[in-house]
Amino acid sequence: MKYDVAIIGGGIAGLPLSIDLKKRGYNVAVIEKGNYPRHKVCGEYISMESYTYLQRVCPALTELKLPVISNFKLTSGDNKEFTTKLDLGGFGISRYLLEDMLFKEAEKLGVVFMLNTKAQDINNVGEEYVIKTNKGDITASLLCNATGRKSNLRTPGKTEAHKGPNYVGIKYHVKLPRNADLIEIHNFPGGYCGISNIEDDKACLCYIVNSEYLNKVNNSIPELEKTYLFKNKNLKKIFTAAEFVFNEPVTVSGINFLIKEPVTDDSFYLGDAAGSMAPIIGNGMSMGLRSASVLADTIDHYFSGKITKHELADNYQGFWRKEFSSRIKLSRYLQKLSEYSFLTRRTIDLFNVFPALAKGVIKQTHGKPF
Ligand SMILES: Cc1cc2nc3c(=O)[nH]c(=O)nc-3n(C[C@H](O)[C@H](O)[C@H](O)COP(=O)(O)OP(=O)(O)OC[C@H]3O[C@@H](n4cnc5c(N)ncnc54)[C@H](O)[C@@H]3O)c2cc1C
Repeated sequence: MKYDVAIIGGGIAGLPLSIDLKKRGYNVAVIEKGNYPRHKVCGEYISMESYTYLQRVCPALTELKLPVISNFKLTSGDNKEFTTKLDLGGFGISRYLLEDMLFKEAEKLGVVFMLNTKAQDINNVGEEYVIKTNKGDITASLLCNATGRKSNLRTPGKTEAHKGPNYVGIKYHVKLPRNADLIEIHNFPGGYCGISNIEDDKACLCYIVNSEYLNKVNNSIPELEKTYLFKNKNLKKIFTAAEFVFNEPVTVSGINFLIKEPVTDDSFYLGDAAGSMAPIIGNGMSMGLRSASVLADTIDHYFSGKITKHELADNYQGFWRKEFSSRIKLSRYLQKLSEYSFLTRRTIDLFNVFPALAKGVIKQTHGKPF
């Protein structure tokens, strides 16, 4: 069978795209190398900009009582802190629950899933794409790549060269009494740790650290936490008071923040496969969701004959660059800033003197509802 659209990667970008396209009447297949449900390293804070779209693609989400987050706190290791109200704010939900709900919705609508299936190669033959997987070939008229940050399927030469450090991400789910409407970011030498609530009165405790700091403690996570994270007394207090829901944290290595190309000869890229934002901005998921929403619209225009394939590529590329290039650059700058305690201190001082500046930066990171 030839599909209208094949999507490689069923994460927070690929799943909503599959639902959105299926609802518009297209035959869609998702090739996903893993399965559902599963945990992923993520702060699990979603900007309110995506709330309406997520509810549209997955109405079952409206039935959940999710924590709405409207306050922000930033601290440095030497007890300086800045707090503010978030204008747009966000909500909390675990990736485990969210992706599973999106998967079930997509399956219910008739999206075809090839799970535990890895896409290995892409061939563009005339007007169709043949995707080679470990379980056989699949053919489609259009191909979307939502394979995340570490795609094995990128056209050579289309990715910005990686310079600078790599980061490691570490996540726990915990239980502890805290304000459900507050997201906290606590700086420590080499990184920062966020905590915000998700479903069922749990909180997501997630940090990102320059991998050199992990190397310095022989790759021991408990040692890393004791040596660096606990320099911030807020983190020491949280780690000591928390009841840990998993025995071991979920971890990911090799994180970097590159801008790639949203369109190449063989695919339309969305989510982290097109470019990844540093988590300090807390907005990578919304970037994936927003690109899914715009790509579904643009693909619909193409299949209904309103635009040519060339225009489809131009329109999507133009949207992506306008919306996200500068946000990724800002996120990289803030990432660098938040790695160094003295810079975090200076930022907090500055924000306390000029709170409007903080509001401006946060506004830049959050986008507009769609
Ligand atoms: C430490 C950390 C904290 C973060 N915190 C937040 C936060 O609080 N809020 C926020 O909005 N964002 C956050 N982010 C960013 C967010 O997690 C990402 O932007 C988001 O996961 C991107 O989704 P995606 O669907 O593009 O990629 P992914 O979620 O990585 O999904 C890609 C999918 O593709 C599949 N895949 C890959 N290759 C293949 C292949 N060859 N064949 C088949 N399948 C394949 C994978 O199995 C995976 O399921 C954080 C990121 C990090 C690292």
